[in-house]
This record gives sequence, structure tokens and C-alpha cells, in this order.
Amino acid sequence: MDFELKKLGLNGLDEKRPLVIAGPCSAETEEQVMDTARQLAAKGVKIFRAGVWKPRTKPGGFEGHGEIALPWLQRVKQELGMLITTEVATPKHVEAALSAGVDLLWVGARTTANPFAMQELADSLKGVDVPVLVKNPVNPDIELWIGALQRIYGAGIKRLGAIHRGFSSVDQKLYRNVPLWHIPIELHRRYPNLPIICDPSHIGGRRDLIAPLCQQAMDMGFEGLIVESHCNPDCAWSDAKQQVTPDVLDFILDRLVIRDNIELTESLSSLRKQIDEMDDQLLDLLTKRMRVSREIAKYKKEHNMGVVQTQRYAEILDKRCAQGSLCGMNPDFVRRIYEFIHEESVRQQMEIINK
Ligand code: PEP
Ligand code: MN
Repeated sequence: MDFELKKLGLNGLDEKRPLVIAGPCSAETEEQVMDTARQLAAKGVKIFRAGVWKPRTKPGGFEGHGEIALPWLQRVKQELGMLITTEVATPKHVEAALSAGVDLLWVGARTTANPFAMQELADSLKGVDVPVLVKNPVNPDIELWIGALQRIYGAGIKRLGAIHRGFSSVDQKLYRNVPLWHIPIELHRRYPNLPIICDPSHIGGRRDLIAPLCQQAMDMGFEGLIVESHCNPDCAWSDAKQQVTPDVLDFILDRLVIRDNIELTESLSSLRKQIDEMDDQLLDLLTKRMRVSREIAKYKKEHNMGVVQTQRYAEILDKRCAQGSLCGMNPDFVRRIYEFIHEESVRQQMEIINK
């Protein structure tokens, strides 16, 4: 599979800014939709988003108005000339959205995680020419994401894009959904022509994280942004904490630095050369370390000792973290590296002991 398109083929975009899709998490009332859209249009936003069918984690939350909200989006299109987009999760949604003239569809993270639902969606899109954006699944599984994209592509949808909205995790610290940037970067490596759009609202879950996340996405060469924006964010019926007013969104977009990363400067290539050399040394050292570790396994086998000596492991972790800290590194980072190294070391020692 290869995605042929370079751009999503959406017209009327502002050349000075990345592709921006903005609008409230949910379409709540006709007034809220029109008020938000008017303010966004005045700031130059060309594509308006609003959730009509809302997948909520627990029952009892606002699940969207469904089809009755579609005419509100149609008004946005007719009166303000914006393109409109909403989330679809079932063939019925697709049918209703397309008959209402929705210009662009997106598939939500919970739907992407379900191949049955994805196949049904794909089947309902056969013979239709509409751009579709597929959010990453809630779990960090790139194959599941690619599988979902392949199903839509297989239905004949050529204007296809991906949305990176972060991944659920057990230890939620800073982010609502951890970015795990290496996953969209790997997607881009495998499918360089597939546009990837960043959703800082669902990654951050907090207003103050939107600006830095937008900048990070731009620095990594994402094609665009989808940001939740509401005329009165504090009173939003869903995702209130992560929505910004159109004014704030405009402020954020205005300050984005769009770097020209096509031409590599000389100094950048020389720095990269240094990194390559250091990586060679790192790998060489790791190989040597594993070799010694296997020697230790032979000794342990001869002397009938267990593989893991907890005390020694704890000592290594503590010492290396302290050393790392002294060198100005983040001790958690050093700890994680040593946990990985130790895990592989134990695996290799087990192989020798069980021989
Ligand atoms: C949304 O965009 O409002 C939404 C529900 O997103 P996600 O599927 O990323 O949770
Ligand atoms: Mn939302």
C-alpha cells in the first residue's frame, strides 16, 4: 500500500499557516456553533470541526445531538463559506454526514481500535470521494493504525490523512494522552506521502499545553493541526479543560515558528555526523556489555547461582541514576535505560543457563 496523495486536496487554505481545523469538541446548540464558527472564520480558519456523535467513556455524559446538529454545520458552510467536518463511527453516520454535505470526515480513536467497525466504515465509503482522516487508536499500536488506514484506502478513498491524538496510558502525568512521537514519526517514515495532522487538544487535555504541542508538531514536520476551540470553553459540554477561545487559538497560531527543514545546513549535517559516530560507539559498548553479561551467566551456571541478584540490580540502578544526575541527565531517563539493558541482559543469561 502507498498513499498517493501529497495534500488532502482541500481548497482555499491560507498559505502562511499550516492546515488548521478548529471548532468545538461538540456541537451543543445552534448559537454555540454559529458563534464559534463566526469568530474562527474572522481569524482566517477555513475548516470547522464539531462532534455530532460523541463516543463517551461512560454513559451519562453528553453523547452529541446526532443528526439534528447537522443543519447547524450546514449553516456554517453556507453562511461563512467554511468547510465542515465531523466524526463518523458507523455507516449510518457516514450516510447522514454525506447527505448533509460534510466536506471531510474523521474517524475517532476508539473506532480506529476496532477492525470490525473500521471495515464497516470502509464498506460504507465505497464509491464515495471524500477526504478521510483517521485518528490513531487509543492504544499505541502502529499496525492497528495502519490497518485502519488500509481499510479506508482499500475502499477507494485516495484523499486520506492521519491524526495523531496521543495514546492512553496507565500513568497519566502531564498529558491526557501521551504523545509517543516516535509512533507518528514511524508512520511518516513508512508512508512519506500520508499527511499527518496533530491534535494537541486531546494529547494535552489542558489549555496551556496546546501552544507547545502545536510548535512541537510543526518542528517535526506535521502537515497541520486540529484544535478544539469554543466560544465559551469553561462552559463546554465536553472536554472543557482543553478548549481555547478563537482569540487564543489565533494568538497561538500567530506565534508558531514554521521552520524550513527541507534544506539541511552544513552545521546540521556535521552535528548529525557526530551523533552517528556516538551511536556507533554506544552500540559497540552495548555489545561488549552483553558479552560480559553472558560470561557472568556461565559463571553463575557453574556455581549453581540464580540469574537475578536483586541487591546487585538495585545497586546498579541507584548508582547509575546518581551518576547520570551528576552529569546533568534526567535520573528517570537513566533508570529507564538501565531497566531495558538489565531486561535484555537477563534474557541473554537465561538462554545460557537453560542451554
Ligand atoms: C474528538 O475529536 O472530540 C474526539 C472524541 O477525539 P478522540 O477520538 O481523539 O478521542
Ligand atoms: Mn474532544
